[in-house]
Amino acid sequence: MRTHRIQGRVSGPLVAVFLGVLGGLALLALTRFEFALGGPKIDRSGRLVILINGIPERMARDVLLPNHAWVLQIRLPEETQPGNDEAFLVTLRSERTGATIQIEDRFSIQNGIATLAIPKSIGLATGLLSVRATYIDATGRHFEDQRRIRIRSWFGGSPIGERQIIHFDFEVDRDEDGVPDFLKDLERFGLASPDQRDFAERIAARIEERALERVERAYDATDDPNGTGRDRDPVHVRFRPDTDPRSLITRICIGGSDPLKRGSVGQVRFDLRNEDKTSVECGDEPVSGIFPAELEIYKDSPLYRAVLDPFLKAHGGTVLGKHPDDSISMFEIDADGSGNGSVWISRRRSEVDRAIAVIGDVLGSIMAHEAGHALGLVAPSQPGLGLFGGSDGEAYAHNLDAFGDPPSDLWLMNPGGRFSFEELAGQGVDGPLRFRPLNYAYLRDRVVVSDKH
Ligand SMILES: [Zn+2]
Repeated sequence: MRTHRIQGRVSGPLVAVFLGVLGGLALLALTRFEFALGGPKIDRSGRLVILINGIPERMARDVLLPNHAWVLQIRLPEETQPGNDEAFLVTLRSERTGATIQIEDRFSIQNGIATLAIPKSIGLATGLLSVRATYIDATGRHFEDQRRIRIRSWFGGSPIGERQIIHFDFEVDRDEDGVPDFLKDLERFGLASPDQRDFAERIAARIEERALERVERAYDATDDPNGTGRDRDPVHVRFRPDTDPRSLITRICIGGSDPLKRGSVGQVRFDLRNEDKTSVECGDEPVSGIFPAELEIYKDSPLYRAVLDPFLKAHGGTVLGKHPDDSISMFEIDADGSGNGSVWISRRRSEVDRAIAVIGDVLGSIMAHEAGHALGLVAPSQPGLGLFGGSDGEAYAHNLDAFGDPPSDLWLMNPGGRFSFEELAGQGVDGPLRFRPLNYAYLRDRVVVSDKH
């Protein structure tokens, strides 16, 4: 038996946790307690629940885990306080070898959930692992939960390579007219005109910047999707508007319309386990890329109207570059008026800023979704074959719940055709679209997907 003490950043109240069995002093005490009373009386009024990676219980049941870096969480029964430092006990036992690892460690407890990111140093063996958690609260009530988790070996390295870059190419010129297709797209929305190339390029650059920021936020979520307790927990993929010859580049083009005219705003091939780390999603044959021109399918959305009408002649607006308040210098002044409010922002300028923000966020949500496909989301079937993704129809490569139905929650990798313009803009009732915890756990290499079941 080995004893590890793991030091780490801990926030919230501390509770000492002993992982270990048969010989652990705390457990001996518990065993004696069980003998004396004919087994502890388990309180059913509240539940102690073992969770993995912030994934709902039913979904986490089949998840296959690597031997470290996943997140073990214990949800404490509501409105309880631990009896003392030894009231909270978690035991890990390998069913294959019978070995138990005794660890004295500290979980971070926040909002009634005790969290531990499993470190490599624990040395978990592959195969089934029994996890048992017991908890005695300050009033002497006894709670417990037990589950089995499968630890898999790591086949062929992690799915997402260390050097993986997604290159979002806004310069693509499919129709070979010498002008990037994206600039032509902006003309449809009144945000550019052919004789004002300067304006078109400036606004394109601002939208591109905003869209990339939106993608970064999706993959570097600040709301701790896997409940690690860490401030930041980013996915190790870089997103760039240009290339880097030293890296593995997946190129996704942004510009033009869907060649098949199905009104699809994006189509990137689903790449199981990100096996092709240098794919090119830029073609007419097969159709792939992101098609901003198709955003017109949302033209009846109230937000679309409010944002773009000021630039559309047919709706009483004036194309960007033709309004008396339009000047190229409007792109130089910070939107917040950088001299502490001393810069006056014209109404026209506010409309321009709003169009940049909304179109940038909508495109960014689509880019984050399509990049997800290129990285292997969402693999069909249950873990360890898949990640609860569908295999046909609109559910293909998109989220399903544990019952095989479309999820009731709004997640970024749900079927794309179901999102409204407002939701893509992050202005739906739930705010910006996010990866669901299982998708995020995959992107962080915390869930192993394998065809070797
Ligand atoms: Zn999709």
